[in-house]
Amino acid sequence: MSRTSDLNNFKSALGGIRFHDGQKHLEARSHDYFWYSPILNDQLTDKLGELLVVPQSVEEVIKVAGLIAKYKLPLTLRGGGTGNYGQCVPMEGGVIMDLTRLDKVLEITQGHVRTQAGARISRLDDAAHETGQELLMYPSTRQMATIGGFLAGGSGGIGSLRHGMLRDPGNVSYVKVITVEKEPQVIELHGDDIQKVQHAYGTNGIVVEMGLALTPKTDWIHTAALFDGYDRALNFATLAQKGGMDCYLLTAVERRFAPYYTKFGDLFPADRDAIFAMVAPDEMDRFTAEAEAQGGHVSFAMTKEKVREAGLQPAYECGWNHTTLQALKVDPGWTYLQVAYPRPFDVDLVMRQMARHGDEMFWHHEMARQDGDIQIFALPLVRYRGKEEMYRLIAELEQTDGCTIFDPHVVTIEDGGMKEIDTTQIDFKKRADPYGLMNPGKTRGWTDDMARRDDQHRQGETA
Ligand SMILES: Cc1cc2nc3c(=O)[nH]c(=O)nc-3n(C[C@H](O)[C@H](O)[C@H](O)COP(=O)(O)OP(=O)(O)OC[C@H]3O[C@@H](n4cnc5c(N)ncnc54)[C@H](O)[C@@H]3O)c2cc1C
Repeated sequence: MSRTSDLNNFKSALGGIRFHDGQKHLEARSHDYFWYSPILNDQLTDKLGELLVVPQSVEEVIKVAGLIAKYKLPLTLRGGGTGNYGQCVPMEGGVIMDLTRLDKVLEITQGHVRTQAGARISRLDDAAHETGQELLMYPSTRQMATIGGFLAGGSGGIGSLRHGMLRDPGNVSYVKVITVEKEPQVIELHGDDIQKVQHAYGTNGIVVEMGLALTPKTDWIHTAALFDGYDRALNFATLAQKGGMDCYLLTAVERRFAPYYTKFGDLFPADRDAIFAMVAPDEMDRFTAEAEAQGGHVSFAMTKEKVREAGLQPAYECGWNHTTLQALKVDPGWTYLQVAYPRPFDVDLVMRQMARHGDEMFWHHEMARQDGDIQIFALPLVRYRGKEEMYRLIAELEQTDGCTIFDPHVVTIEDGGMKEIDTTQIDFKKRADPYGLMNPGKTRGWTDDMARRDDQHRQGETA
């Protein structure tokens, strides 16, 4: 049967489940922030889904999953659509499933929250605040992103300085996954098994529910310290981190970004390098004293409410990939890279990189933790000079400087962050997406010959 008749049959079988097939809806839900990359922009601009479904409950998700398997349609899941690598772009058209109506925060107890996967992270964190707790971390897209999208597409962010990356043990307690089969199964994963779907780009099961650890809430002070020299700013941030200063965010942004941080004016002037931070109130005196000891000074320090009243952005929108966004709004000639530094972090290496690349790269660094150790990342702006030059630069940063690049100019899991095929995720895909319908084109680990044929039975089933 043709795709059109399969889609029509699928549509008719949806019953009352909400769907849209108008061009406007499809265009709005087929893209994410891949346009940060001119390479992906060329590759993905024309990709479009053919039908958008918006289930309102887990039961509706299960029904859609069963119909997808019945009619063998490509299925792309979508949360807030804030991914950077075309993660939720439907490469082969088909059905887009918007999960944002699965947004119930189910239960908050001491140190833990159970939530549906489509809940916006801001709503989830606000709900935790009402119980005197907060999330361990969130991406700088806190406002728009969903928690399921963070699990399946993100890695860490604000809070990672204190609590590590999302994948570090204990941060996620369980996930509930729906399989894409004619009779969809509900699978619950705990502990290490959660890695089977973490950062799998929604290629191996629909996450409908998850549990996350919470920590007691802190009324973080949003602040910036200014330094005459990026090395001084980085030295301050690394000393603060090593000294265990209680911060939720320490972001180093060099002075050439100042014209892009238009709201900040003299609070981030063009002749100073900045550390944007979220600092515990009782650590603010220490933050100020240590900044002064490095020749810096604090340019502002406010609660989040005061930041909003002053018309500024909260500090978490001054770091991670919001830094790139600020720059791209003003100068679309930039693109970016994601860099992990070798441990221990060497400020001199950054200064050599800055000298070597001059006006071709502007620098911004994130203090974080991974596997219990300090890990520094950078998301530098890169002046786009074509694909060949981009890959020459990546090779130089890896081979000369010993950095690891998480390539944001590719669509597959393996070519981006993971570097290699995760066979555990592929094995789980054989179980959760046996027909290979989910987010096609996003994993090199899946090949057509792995797909279950209709005349095959699930492992363990008798004829
Ligand atoms: C300005 C900016 C700043 C950013 N900062 C950060 C940052 O600090 N840290 C970070 O990690 N990322 C960051 N990102 C990337 C992105 O915002 C986050 O990863 C975010 O958590 C994605 O959530 P989402 O709901 O928008 O996911 P989407 O973009 O909708 O989806 C991401 C992937 O997850 C899959 N997916 C979505 N929901 C489900 C589900 N329920 N089950 C299974 N798969 C699913 C999708 O198919 C897709 O492959 C940033 C992006 C931008 C544009």
